[in-house]
Amino acid sequence: MKVILANHAGYCYGVERAFNIVEVAATSAQRPITTLGPLIHNTQAIDALREERNVSIADSLDEIEEGTVVIRTHGVPPDVLESAEEKGLEVIDATCPFVRSAQKLAAKLVEEGYTLVVLGEKNHPEVIGVTAHAGGEAIVVEDPDEISQYLPLKRVGVVVQTTQQLEKLEKLVRRLLPHCKDLKVQNTICYATVDRQDAARKLARDVQAMIVVGGRHSGNTRRLVDICKEGKVPVHHIETADELDKAAFNDIDVVGVTAGASTPDFIIEDVVRKLESF
Ligand code: SF4
Repeated sequence: MKVILANHAGYCYGVERAFNIVEVAATSAQRPITTLGPLIHNTQAIDALREERNVSIADSLDEIEEGTVVIRTHGVPPDVLESAEEKGLEVIDATCPFVRSAQKLAAKLVEEGYTLVVLGEKNHPEVIGVTAHAGGEAIVVEDPDEISQYLPLKRVGVVVQTTQQLEKLEKLVRRLLPHCKDLKVQNTICYATVDRQDAARKLARDVQAMIVVGGRHSGNTRRLVDICKEGKVPVHHIETADELDKAAFNDIDVVGVTAGASTPDFIIEDVVRKLESF
């Protein structure tokens, strides 16, 4: 079976950067290093970090007594940073610069007097952080249709979770435009997301089945699954090569592979190798 890997797949700039930051810190650390939440949505990569670098995970600051706390790519509300410093913890902020930019733009829109609308997953840490940086007052919509209950609005400023689909933002703007005199849109979707989604969409047109590799809790991976499903071919969302069943590919000659922004290369390589062996 021929296996084609998408042109853009796997670790993005922000995740690579966060891993490098943690690895450098772990190499010279005299005190414990703890990430606030899993550094990325990938069980295998997190296990490796714990076993090989002795980096542990805490769900909240209450669980961290001493040492260094690492803020992951999604960022955190400002009061979390303040609390960590008050507790005497060393803070390593690995918030992705694209998320940081969304936080700043959201805060600026509120300063300028716009009603802030955030397009994204309500309970996602990135969305919670962006909203908090803007003072906490925001309308958060996961689906553009949800905005109708808040209309009409006078002055609206929009930011987007960095891993959302452009089509959703376009739909939200179409919903808002007829009802807002002053609409300011900051497209904060990151280039890594755009590249991965475009590459997956194109590849899904040229193959007989698509494999999407990535954590089941990873929002950007789930959106890649949705995009691949827009095509006409079967789509399999897996976390590791172990989930691949040869019987499912009996009639397939060409399969495409893509992967979420938090999927390590070694997992993608395992998947490609196993598919090629079918
Ligand atoms: S997906 Fe984009 S915003 Fe998120 S960590 Fe990667 S580069 Fe940063």
